Amino acid sequence: MESDKKNENEEKSENIINSSTKSENIINSSMKKEIINTTSEKPKKGRKKLVHDYASRGLDICGVCKLKYNLGDRIPRILVHCGHTFCTSCLIRFYHVDHIRCPYCKKLINNIESVAKIESLPLNLNIFGELVKTDPLVMRLLDQDPENPNNLSTECSFHPGKQKHFYCSYHEQNFCRECIKSSHKLNECCVVDLYDIEKLYQLNEQNIKKNNLIVKCRKKTNGGKMRKEEFFIANY
Ligand SMILES: [Zn+2]
Ligand SMILES: [Zn+2]
Ligand SMILES: [Zn+2]
Ligand SMILES: [Zn+2]
Repeated sequence: MESDKKNENEEKSENIINSSTKSENIINSSMKKEIINTTSEKPKKGRKKLVHDYASRGLDICGVCKLKYNLGDRIPRILVHCGHTFCTSCLIRFYHVDHIRCPYCKKLINNIESVAKIESLPLNLNIFGELVKTDPLVMRLLDQDPENPNNLSTECSFHPGKQKHFYCSYHEQNFCRECIKSSHKLNECCVVDLYDIEKLYQLNEQNIKKNNLIVKCRKKTNGGKMRKEEFFIANY
């Protein structure tokens, strides 16, 4: 029974590798095209295309379960030791006592004391940002416009004094902490704190703006050229 399961997993992993190599080739060729585009007269248009190209490149889909990432049980997380991203649900499935073996590169990630620790693996902010931006409901909920009758600081009509800053991706609605206990205990329910989502989303947006500004300033002082040593691979 156990070895059958293992084989199945191994087979699945191989499929992932095959499909990933394919999609990497696609990414490479589309990136090359992008470079050609950006050097021609319309650089802004080319860049916009790249940003909104997540779905067509298959980057919005988890390589293991082949399902779309979401803001619930399939939030995209990075296995920090190898850098590969999978949905939280699949990472939980691949969890083994105190470790996870990356389903893509087979790297062993040790010292994950409990399944709950998976939730503290960093989010893949590129994909996460796209998820928030392309979800009209979540974007509307995050909108702090006082005219909006249903934003995350609105008071719950069942629980006075409690703000509706939780969101269930199954019921597609927001509610207060008390409502979780009474109405979102189903297996299908996946509740996230919209304040966390907002904080991360704002951070991501600020980083993009800040980094763009840095690049812009450097470009001016350097005559359009970035020095090689100004790039870094990871910030931790
Ligand atoms: Zn998955
Ligand atoms: Zn890996
Ligand atoms: Zn409530
Ligand atoms: Zn629910």
